[in-house]
Amino acid sequence: MNRLFIAKDKDPLRMTLDLLDRMNPLEGRNRDIKIGIKPNLVCASPASEGATTHPEIVEGIILYLLDNGFRNIKIIEGSWVGDSTKRAFKVCGYEDISKRYGVPLIDLKDDGYIAKTYKGIEISICKTVFDLDYLINVPLIKGHCQTKITCALKNLKGIIPDREKRRFHTLGLHKPIAYLNAVIKQDLIIADCICPDPYFEEGGRPAKLNRIAAGYDPVLMDCYAAKTLGYEPDDIKYIGLARDEGVGNYINADTEFIYIYDHSSDENELRIVQKEKKYLRLIDEADACSACYSNLASAMEKLNEMGLTDSFADQICIGQAYRGYKGYLGIGNCTSCFEKYLPGCPPDVDSIIKFLAELTD
Ligand code: SF4
Repeated sequence: MNRLFIAKDKDPLRMTLDLLDRMNPLEGRNRDIKIGIKPNLVCASPASEGATTHPEIVEGIILYLLDNGFRNIKIIEGSWVGDSTKRAFKVCGYEDISKRYGVPLIDLKDDGYIAKTYKGIEISICKTVFDLDYLINVPLIKGHCQTKITCALKNLKGIIPDREKRRFHTLGLHKPIAYLNAVIKQDLIIADCICPDPYFEEGGRPAKLNRIAAGYDPVLMDCYAAKTLGYEPDDIKYIGLARDEGVGNYINADTEFIYIYDHSSDENELRIVQKEKKYLRLIDEADACSACYSNLASAMEKLNEMGLTDSFADQICIGQAYRGYKGYLGIGNCTSCFEKYLPGCPPDVDSIIKFLAELTD
């Protein structure tokens, strides 16, 4: 468990096949097991934008499984609140893979759910997940404007219904992510770090890192993701909480990093240096959904580039905790009792830019 396999190169399909050949993760397993592959298709944008899992990686996993006699495979995903998983399957190249290899695409937004209770917190989880024998998580190592990073642990948020995604935010996000991972075990992780956006989960600022990391422990993988993106594991609260729940372990002196190509090692390891984003201090967030907050943060970045954020005197409120409260400036339907607010659930980036820019006129 205390091992990470890393491939650094430019061909995601070949890298995935080489990683799996080296790891041999399904050795001794019955060929009839039901396997679910869970990419990160948070929104409908191609992998080159830095938000979604490269389809070539999922294709590599399918080729490996078929080659080794595993035929009972599904691709499962539920995009974030406000986007369509079916549109993401199409735009991100997964419809093509599905047709080519006869692997069904399961939109978890259409699924029923089963409620599980962990330490007094009830969590609704999509039914399909309980029918799997083996879960392959294929997250991205990328930035997230609320939790700083997202990788293996947070990618499981795609297996809960939209209603539950919203509720996770009202519970502070970190604890429910850790608890969800205590309930649902992932068997294998192949993390896409080809060209992730180091700052925003919806992409748009891809950074070429040209690597894929694989392993079995989501806490270990997230520690690696944090370090790659310029943080320490303790900077990301849910990683420590997941470790405390026994989900996995931090990187330690015994952790083995196995670089599968001769030419790749940890020498000259490329890491992101995080930039301070002062304009984010203007946002007063309380239990905001990821899509809503992320759209506002992206809009603020653009307004900052336009030189407009310095003229804002008011805090911009966003999030479910503002429902029914009076205030001055808000974004999203949850702030409908505010004096000035932009409707939408979530409002898109362009509407937010237009709304806030007009306020500075
Ligand atoms: S308006 Fe409220 S419920 Fe809708 S996406 Fe934004 S924070 Fe979530």
